[in-house]
Amino acid sequence: MTTHSLTLHPGGHKMPLLGFGTWKVPKDSTAEIVYKAIESGYRLLDCACDYGNEVQVGQGIKKAIEAGIVTREELFVTSKLWNTYHHKEHVPLAFNRTLKDLGLDYIDLYLIHFPISLKYVPFEERYPPEWGNMQQDPVPVHETWAAMEELVHSGKVRNIGVSNFTAILLMDLLSYAKVKPAVLHIEVHPYLNNADLIKFAQSQGLQITGYSNFGPASYVELGSPAAQNAVPLFKEERLSKIAAHHSKTIAQIILRWLVQNKVAVIPKSSNPVRIAQNADIFNFELSAEEMKTINSMNIPLRLNDPAGYANIPIYA
Ligand code: NAD
Repeated sequence: MTTHSLTLHPGGHKMPLLGFGTWKVPKDSTAEIVYKAIESGYRLLDCACDYGNEVQVGQGIKKAIEAGIVTREELFVTSKLWNTYHHKEHVPLAFNRTLKDLGLDYIDLYLIHFPISLKYVPFEERYPPEWGNMQQDPVPVHETWAAMEELVHSGKVRNIGVSNFTAILLMDLLSYAKVKPAVLHIEVHPYLNNADLIKFAQSQGLQITGYSNFGPASYVELGSPAAQNAVPLFKEERLSKIAAHHSKTIAQIILRWLVQNKVAVIPKSSNPVRIAQNADIFNFELSAEEMKTINSMNIPLRLNDPAGYANIPIYA
C-alpha cells in the first residue's frame, strides 16, 4: 500500500500519486477488477459517467470495504461531469446520478470532463450519453463552475477540478473561481509530456493527474491511426535500456518518471499481474540523466483529441 500523495488546494486533502483508471474496463468484470486493484494497494479510483461502469466500480468498492481491506476514508474517488450536463440545472442531476451509481455519500474529486458543452440528453433516453451525433449547446464555463462550487458547499464533493483544459481556459477560470480548481487532469506520456502546461498549472496551485500514461497502447484498440503508426512505448529502445538498468518493466519506468515529476498516474489494466506491477513503483528512483532522456522523448503526439472523433478542435 502506498501513502505517496499530493496535497490539494484549497482543501488540504491528500490525493494519492497512484490511482487506477476505469475507462474501457469491461462492465461484467469491473467489480472484481476494482476489488483486485484495491487489494493490490491502489487507493484512488478514476471514474466517469462516460465510462458506463460506475455501478460496477461501486460494487467493487463496497466489496473491498466489507472485506476490511480499506475504509471509505482511505479511498480517493474521482468522477467526471459529462459534456451533456454543463447547464447549471444539469450539474447536480448528473452528479447525484454518479453518486448513486457509485453507492457513495461523497466523492473526493469531481472534474469537468471536457471544455465541451453538448445538448442535454435525459437519462431515460440514453445513459451514458457518449458522443453520438451530439449537437453543440454552448454554456459558459463560469455557469458550470458555479454549479460545481455548489456541490462543494453541499458537502458531497471535497474537491473540484477540470480535465482537458488548456492554459488559456485555466487562466480564465482562475480569474473568477471562488473555489479554485484543485486538479488539472490531462493526457501525459513520454510522447506528449505537456511540460509547459504542467509547469503553468502547478505554478497556479493545481496538482496534475496524467492520463493515458502508456500513450498509444490505449488507442491502438480504438483504431487510431496515430497510435497504430507510433512505436509502442513498450518497445521503445531508450525506455528498454532504462528498464533493464533498474530490473523494472517499461510500464513501471513510465509511471515512475511521472510520479518523480509530481504527476499523479492512473494506469488501467484488466490483468491482475499488470495491475500489481503498475502499483510497484515506489521502491526505486530514476537518475536526473534518465529523467532527462524520457523528457526528451516528447514528439508531441496527442492521442485523445476530440477534433478527430467529434469534430471539435479544442486544441487548435
Ligand atoms: P493507459 O495508458 O493506462 O493504458 C492502458 C493500456 O495499457 C491497456 O491496453 C492495457 O492493457 C495496457 N497495459 C496496462 N498496464 C500494462 C503493463 N504493465 N504492461 C503492458 N501493458 C499494459 O490508458 P487509458 O485507459 O487511456 O488511461 C488510463 C485512465 O485515464 C483511464 O482508464 C481513465 O480512467 C483515464 N482517462 C481519462 C481521460 C479524460 O479525458 N479525462 C481520457 C483517457 C483516459
